[in-house]
Amino acid sequence: MRIGILGGGQLGWMTVLEGKKFGFEFFILDKTKTSPACRVADGCFDYEEVDEFVRLCDVVTYEFEHISDEILENVSHLTLPSVGVLKLKKSKVEEKLFLKRRGYPVPNFVVAFGEDLESAVAMFNFPVVVKSESLGYDGKGQYLIKEDLGKLKTIKMNHRERERFLVEEFVDFDFEFSIIGVRNSKGEIKLYPPTINYHEEGILIYNKTTNLNFSLAEEIVKSLMEELNIVGLLCVEFFHAKDGRILINEMAPRTHNTGHWTLDGCYTSQFENLVRAISGLPLGSTKLKSPSGMINIIGKSYEEIDIRRILSMEGTKLYWYGKEKRYRRKMGHINVVGDNQEDVDKKLDYLNDVLFGAIKC
Ligand code: ADP
Repeated sequence: MRIGILGGGQLGWMTVLEGKKFGFEFFILDKTKTSPACRVADGCFDYEEVDEFVRLCDVVTYEFEHISDEILENVSHLTLPSVGVLKLKKSKVEEKLFLKRRGYPVPNFVVAFGEDLESAVAMFNFPVVVKSESLGYDGKGQYLIKEDLGKLKTIKMNHRERERFLVEEFVDFDFEFSIIGVRNSKGEIKLYPPTINYHEEGILIYNKTTNLNFSLAEEIVKSLMEELNIVGLLCVEFFHAKDGRILINEMAPRTHNTGHWTLDGCYTSQFENLVRAISGLPLGSTKLKSPSGMINIIGKSYEEIDIRRILSMEGTKLYWYGKEKRYRRKMGHINVVGDNQEDVDKKLDYLNDVLFGAIKC
């Protein structure tokens, strides 16, 4: 089996490492040939070489959404989950409209062009969240408006004319959580255990498994996978609002940062299950092996992390992506397993301290 991946970042890197266990070959399409997945794949192609890439692949999947329509046209006949799903996800506006139309619970929102931002924001109480339609990730293209309407001018200047925005109620939440599901072409579905996720300024800092029960959210994920006819993975991120509402923040039809822990905490990782689903193999068990957590290493070089201190804690695994350091860039992560959830929390506290100076988990 020859698998192509659109995008060569860390998600692709872990997919290749996991999928190679089955003796499969992997080919990466990326704008640069030095990306993490390119280092471990069987071949790497830039966007001009898309025809050659397509010729080599039996099936193509993706690890990010920001792929041009031109490229997608070339690969759509091979791509799983389907390009239709990916296109829906490419636009935060279309994604939210779809969810709302189909009756899924989402925060209150309106869609506005730049020139209408003031009146759209006025429909909500402060603070209000403004998100650009496309190219946003890790909090990029997202703005919190706290009575400072002057900020709207800057937002308009930073985005192209006729760009649409989501103007959304700020959800006062107890916590955020996500659930990842895997589905094959026969329609069989398995869900991973939910995790509680902690973001700062829109970027995931750490997450952990939980004993809480999220049966309503699990039904939502299953229903979405069926409705979108997903063959592969779907991650759905939720808010657990203080007023009791369970709201979908967003979804991703691909491997997800909140599922990195599955490499060590589950019988089958999200990466392996993606490979199984798109290549027609039986799905692997998504059962929990032990309570788990994950912490992202953000904006630090290899020299700036104390690998000895990190690895001296029992039950930690370091994954280093080998990318050039940049501010707020995800450079690696550490998975943690523990005897129980309290043990995981203690280890995450320790790692937070080693990496960033103490934050309580
Ligand atoms: P991205 O696509 O950049 O990851 P998201 O829409 O997922 O952006 O937002 C990232 C994070 O920002 C969320 O996980 C959450 O912490 C915060 N956030 C986003 N939308 C809202 C909202 N409406 N209310 C409160 N917090 C929000």
